[in-house]
Amino acid sequence: MKVTDAELVISAVSQKQYPSDLLPEIALAGRSNVGKSSFINKMIQRKALARTSSKPGKTQTLNFYKINDTFYFVDVPGYGYAKVSKKEREKWGKMMEEYFAERENLRATALVVDLRHDPTKDDILMYDYLKHFELPVMIIATKLDKIPKNKRDKHIKNVRKVLQVEEEDTVIPFSSETGEGKELAWRTMLNHIS
Ligand code: GDP
Repeated sequence: MKVTDAELVISAVSQKQYPSDLLPEIALAGRSNVGKSSFINKMIQRKALARTSSKPGKTQTLNFYKINDTFYFVDVPGYGYAKVSKKEREKWGKMMEEYFAERENLRATALVVDLRHDPTKDDILMYDYLKHFELPVMIIATKLDKIPKNKRDKHIKNVRKVLQVEEEDTVIPFSSETGEGKELAWRTMLNHIS
């Protein structure tokens, strides 16, 4: 898909701020620093629409990016910060629950993981959390360019195994450096929103 128009419509902290036009939504989740912003920017061909490496401790918001007036990417704050307080974590949990449990036009979530390493405990929790809401999840296994070609299959199988990815969910090897996986990621997303 050629993205001609992409804009941050709102950074929301509560339901009443969500856009009301009810276009289909694809949520984007992932550990902080995993490569989530690079993934969005690569998908929409912008250098820096999504903020990269947002620091822990910043206000945590759901960022709604409207794409070509047809759907939203909803960037969900990164999880797995070592140092957030219990209070902040609770606030984060409530915001996530409000969105994932109740948002009817949410069609699927892209969960970004680092293909170089085993998915972490937090990645597994997040996948299970999303499946608990019976949401389709596409796993974006990023940093593919960092893995030698003859080892890629092994890493991809490992992601499926460690996350116990359900059969209907796709694992998409991806690189924000080279753009590999971009077409499959678009195709999979468009299937979910059409
Ligand atoms: P975020 O915190 O999840 O949004 O992570 P960023 O998108 O800011 O990425 C974190 C770091 O990983 C940055 O230094 C990126 O340049 C790097 N990075 C992200 N994706 C890739 C990738 O596909 N390949 C490589 N080699 N580096 C990447």
